[in-house]
Formats: sequence, C-alpha cells, structure tokens
Amino acid sequence: MAKKSKDLTQDDLYKLRHSVAHVMAAAVLEMFPEAKIAIGPPIENGFYYDFDLPRPLTPEDLKEIEKRMRKIIAGHHPFVRREVTPEEARELFKDQPYKLELIDDILSRGVDEHGNPLPEGTKPTLSTYTVGNFTDLCRGPHIENTKQMPPDAFKLLSVAGAYWRGDEHNPMLQRIYGTAWFSKKDLQAHLKFLKEVEKRDHRKLGKQLDLFSVNPDVGPGLVLWHPNGGMIRMIMEQFCREEHQKAGYQFVYTPHIGRSWLWETSGHLDFYRENMYSPIDVDGQEYFIKPMNCPFHIMIYKSRRRSYRELPFRWAEWGTVYRYERGGVLHGLMRVRGFTQDDAHIFCRPDQMPEEIDKVLAFSLHILRSFGFQEFNAYLSTMPEKAVGDPARWKDAEEALQEALERSGIPYEIDEGGGAFYGPKIDLKISDALGREWQLSTIQFDFNLPDRFDLKYVGADGQEHRPYMIHRALLGSMERFFGILIEHYGGAFPVWLAPVQAILIPIADRHVDYAYGIRDKLLDAGLRVEVDDSADRMNAKIRNAQLQKIPYMLVIGDKEMGNGTVALRMRDGSRKDDLPVDDFLNVALEAIRGKRSL
Ligand SMILES: [Zn+2]
Ligand SMILES: [Zn+2]
Repeated sequence: MAKKSKDLTQDDLYKLRHSVAHVMAAAVLEMFPEAKIAIGPPIENGFYYDFDLPRPLTPEDLKEIEKRMRKIIAGHHPFVRREVTPEEARELFKDQPYKLELIDDILSRGVDEHGNPLPEGTKPTLSTYTVGNFTDLCRGPHIENTKQMPPDAFKLLSVAGAYWRGDEHNPMLQRIYGTAWFSKKDLQAHLKFLKEVEKRDHRKLGKQLDLFSVNPDVGPGLVLWHPNGGMIRMIMEQFCREEHQKAGYQFVYTPHIGRSWLWETSGHLDFYRENMYSPIDVDGQEYFIKPMNCPFHIMIYKSRRRSYRELPFRWAEWGTVYRYERGGVLHGLMRVRGFTQDDAHIFCRPDQMPEEIDKVLAFSLHILRSFGFQEFNAYLSTMPEKAVGDPARWKDAEEALQEALERSGIPYEIDEGGGAFYGPKIDLKISDALGREWQLSTIQFDFNLPDRFDLKYVGADGQEHRPYMIHRALLGSMERFFGILIEHYGGAFPVWLAPVQAILIPIADRHVDYAYGIRDKLLDAGLRVEVDDSADRMNAKIRNAQLQKIPYMLVIGDKEMGNGTVALRMRDGSRKDDLPVDDFLNVALEAIRGKRSL
C-alpha cells in the first residue's frame, strides 16, 4: 500500500502560483513605485507577497491590483531567467533593502530567496526572473509565459500584517494573500471551500455554541472550557478511558511540576529548553512545569525492580502539559500553550514489541473511527543519520511499524531518514469533512530515555535487560482535537457528543408542566435535555435551538399534551409529528449507540 511521496516544489500549480506572485508584485510596484518588496513564496492553495508600502491597503486597492495584474498577463510576457554576480545583484536591487539583505544571506548562509535553507550540496547562486518591466531575485521555477496564466482563475484574498522574517523586532510589512488556479472552475471551487472553512471556524463556533474561550487577561494560549465544551470533553474522556481499559491500559496520575534533576536526566533541559517555562524555586530547588509526561511514567517504572513476567505495561494519563509557543503562532484551540494529551507509554520486552505495535495501531484507528473519521494516511519515519540506540533495535522497530501498517490496510508513506534521533515513529493523519488533513496519532519508539534513566527488567535468564519504550498519543491534545471536531462537524456534533441532545419547546404556558414531565423521563433515560420555557414565540425558540445545533427539538402543544406525544423536529429539518415519547426515546438512544449524527 506504500505510496510514493510527490515533490510539491516541482508541481505545476506551484510554478503558476509563484509566477502570479511575481505579477502581483509588478502590479503593486506600478501603483506604488516607492514600495519596498520582501518575499513572495507560493503556499498551499496560493501565494503571498510581503510589501513595505506608504499606506495601508484597502479592499479597493486589491481590486485595482487585480486589474493591473490582468493587464500585465494580457501582455504575454515571458519569464526570463538570468544568473547574476553579487555585484550585479546589489546594483539591480540597490533601492530594495530587503532584497539586499536576502542577497547577503544567500551568499553567506546558503539559504534561498525565501530564507529557507538550501538542499545540501546546492551552491548558492544568485538569479533573477524578469517578467515585463519587473525583475525579482528568484531561484524559480516559473511558468514560461504569462500566456499560461488564466486571467480569470486567480484572486487576491486578504491583507495581513507580517513582520519581516517573522521577527517582531523587524518592521511590520503588509502581506497580500492570493490564490491561483489553472481554470475558473477550480478557482470557484476553492473560493467555495474557503467560505465553508470560514463558516466552520472553531473560534467562531466556539463563541456561538458557548464551548470555550481564550482570554488575554488569563493568558494567551490558555484555554477556558465552558460548560458546553466541558460536557463534550467529559464524554470524550469517559469514552476513551473505557476503551483504554478494555484494551488493557492502566491509569496513572502524575504532578504538573518536577525537579530539574528529572529534566536534566531526560535531556529536556538540553534539547527542549526553549519550549519550557522558567523554573520555579521551591525550598532552594529548581522545579519545571512539565512539557511532557514521560519522565514521570518512567519514574513509576523505576519505583521498583521489574520482572519479565510483568511486562508489558501500558500506562495512560490525560496529562496536562505546558509548552512555550511564540505569541504569533497561537491559534484558537489548534496552537496553545497549555493542553492535555491522551498520553500513554508502553514498556515491553523485545518479543512482545511487534504485537504491541499492532495493537496500538489498531486501537488508534478504532478510537479515531469512533469520532467519525474514516479516511487515514500514515507516515512512517525511519532512522536519521544522527541517531542514538542500537541499529539492530531500530531495524526491528521499523519492521514492526511497517508490518503493522501493512496489516491495517491504510495507505502509508515512508519518510526515509525522517525519524527523530531517538526512535522511528508512525504519524496518523485523518481527512476531515472538507478533505483537510490533520495529524493526530503518533506512535513513537524511544531508544533514548530508557538508556538515560537506565531502565531494566530481569529476564527469564536472571539477567538485566533494557525494555522497549513507546510513547503514543491518539487524539494528540484534547484542545486541538476538539478544535478539529468542531470544524469537522461544523458544530453539529453527533448525538452522543452533543452537550444538549434534546430541547423541549412548549408552545404556551399551559404546556410547560407537561414539558417538564417529559424532561424528567428523558433525563432518567440518560439523555441531556432542556426545556425552553422562555417568553419567546415558538418560532424564535426553534431558531435558537437550531443556532445551538441541538439534534432534537420536541415541540409541545395541545394535541401533543392530549395524546401524550411530542412533535419531533430534527436538526436537519426532518420531522415526525405526534410521536409517542417512548418512540422518540428509542430514536435518540439508537443514534447515541450508533454514534450517529441523528
Ligand atoms: Zn520567483
Ligand atoms: Zn512520552
């Protein structure tokens, strides 16, 4: 099932988008001859270019730039490449300070014109591409002629502030984002996709559905789970805990801080320090807030002698960790500074290892499928040049990972040499309802920590041996996974996850008591139910419930009260009138059991 990975940089769309970025820069320079230009790389689905401009751009400016771009495209200009000497380059770009900085960097540090390191063995060369009157410092590649650029298949999307080289000490530039395709149809499909992405934005839905908030007064990147979000998290955790228990896991709990000894021994203070927060002084000793749970689980392992008979251990913890992320990259629930991992560590004997890998991969797929994800891609990363641990163990581990992938039947790619220095791993990605890929589960071998902490077990031979250690997180972080779930479902969670599963809507005051009677019956059956006894009219109540994306609305009037029934309206618009309460209960319980949408 292995797929060959494709080289995106050679992609035709890449060339097109990068070429459109040049044309955009040319148009911007026409409008603002004094503009200073920075960098303009292609990105997924589009491109951007950063400019230092005399004034902030408006939406009207973007339209004007687009118009000028179409004019340039209509000129059928070729893209002409030329290699230049450092002197020529400095002369050409003498009025462009950002380009001059890039020229120095390319020559001295071996990076490309976007500031990315050059592939090893590449000699730094300076080249320019000219299209029409506009010459840019560029390594290419480009399309041959603006003739190949459909004038109705690109669009400038937005302007955002961006620091030169992403460093807040540098000047703030204006970044114009755009998208470009080979046909108008593709462009329109993409714009539709963007609209859908915006509609499903978890930050927007988080507010609308009162799920969570992030408050600068609390601290950026620190998430507050509101009762509705908290209910979903509680259900997610409960479900996962039960499944873990069935799968032979045991649960541990560990502290949020630990002495510097722990992090020195683990090596985190050497190679992970920039992601850790400053130490806390406790009785003259340095303590650190944990960025990971592993060292604590290791200390549980080390708390006594271990025999081969006891292995494997599968120890799970919903462990909350804190990692420093730069303010600029924080994003809703997706990129945060404090989060809870559904973490576990497996310690096993070499002969148990292949079976453990098989189990953990199958378990991971089972959990992700339960949350409604059906499409997976796996990535196997193998031994890099610089690595610790016995190469024979690396080989065994890589083989076990690959065999487990083969048996699982999901497509996978191999990232040869792409593993961390301490062990090979599998990353599992899911595709969401919009076809976007998200990396969730990681199954990571570790040949480093067992050595550093000198982990042992006594084998059948009476000798001491080193156990295998595997880190694995299935959902990854509860925060990020929740963000992905919100966007995947557009906030319309399947019934088993919906914070409120049914809402009773009495039409008039005289129906309120009957509604509360039904609520109690449904509550008894385990449903999460509310009564809307506000003074709103029925239609307003229904609209509110729909905005809250509550799966079931049960409308109650004289007829229903007389017959002991409800009028069921589902979130998707379908209806069942005069439905006996027990029949509704069966509908709901069936949907919950099947983890269905309705
Ligand atoms: Zn270029
Ligand atoms: Zn770990």
